[in-house]
Amino acid sequence: MFPVSSEILRCPCCRGWLDSEADRYICSDCDSKFEFKDGILDLLHPQLDSITYSEIQHYTEKSEYYVWMYETWKDSPFYRHYHTRLLEEFNSLKKGALILEIGCGLGKDGFHLLKSGYQLIETDVAFGELKEAKKFHESNGFGDSCAHILCDAMHLPFKSGIFDGVLMIATLHHLPFPREALKEVRRVLKKGGIFGLGTEPNNWQPKTIFPVGKLGLKLILRLMGRKMSSGEKVSEADKQTKGFSRRDLENLFRGAGFDSWELKPAGFFSAATHFVSQIIHEHLGKVVRPFRLEKLAVQVDVFLERLGLLKRFPWHWNAVAR
Ligand SMILES: [Zn+2]
Repeated sequence: MFPVSSEILRCPCCRGWLDSEADRYICSDCDSKFEFKDGILDLLHPQLDSITYSEIQHYTEKSEYYVWMYETWKDSPFYRHYHTRLLEEFNSLKKGALILEIGCGLGKDGFHLLKSGYQLIETDVAFGELKEAKKFHESNGFGDSCAHILCDAMHLPFKSGIFDGVLMIATLHHLPFPREALKEVRRVLKKGGIFGLGTEPNNWQPKTIFPVGKLGLKLILRLMGRKMSSGEKVSEADKQTKGFSRRDLENLFRGAGFDSWELKPAGFFSAATHFVSQIIHEHLGKVVRPFRLEKLAVQVDVFLERLGLLKRFPWHWNAVAR
């Protein structure tokens, strides 16, 4: 394991110093104790809210399903368009820079950063996914440049001002308190460090296309003599999210104390095509991968990004803040 010095760790409860003792850490201020689980340090705050507990349970129980999902759709042109463009924002950092990823899931985006020569701390609330990420990074020879720590975004167990970059992609809508999480990101970033944030969905979707699509799907399934699935494949936060508009994100950055930020649209038609193929899988059990169509849609999307009013209503947002 990449040696995370106790110098950079802090207690998630009180930000006190953590003393290393045999195979655990003890807070020198509040006496909280933190143990390792299969080589992964568990620095989760001992008292979490109900949404976070439900996300922990969902992503731990379903980690194998998400591995299958990734393998099935990893070559999706939309997926690459959304993720790769955000990862490219870190290219200005020097090799060896220290990056924190929040909500790393299976560690696929982190793998891209490791290949680029950065040191990485991967974090997530779900042990099942983090374990998969650790296995994946170590089997690819990155055991010495990557550490895996269980923790939640609202209580980052790190010293202030130590990261050159923070990455958070497809995670913000899983958090019950996004503003608190962004304050934590600002706190642990070095001055001038880069925060790359990929958010989903935009706020217009839960008000329009999601309910209309759900109704349409219900009718189609009824005509086919089938029932809607109970939705067990998506997490509670996915079901409850209201999404993020441009203004929501700007308010979050401002409230968290960032000096500057830039928001970029991430997908229109390519994202919609990808979304429909996921829905077909979830409710009809069929795997469809319209990658040629998605590729064409990505090209259309890149053109649409330049159009005045339309660029305010993308499917997702990519943001870079400092
Ligand atoms: Zn403490």
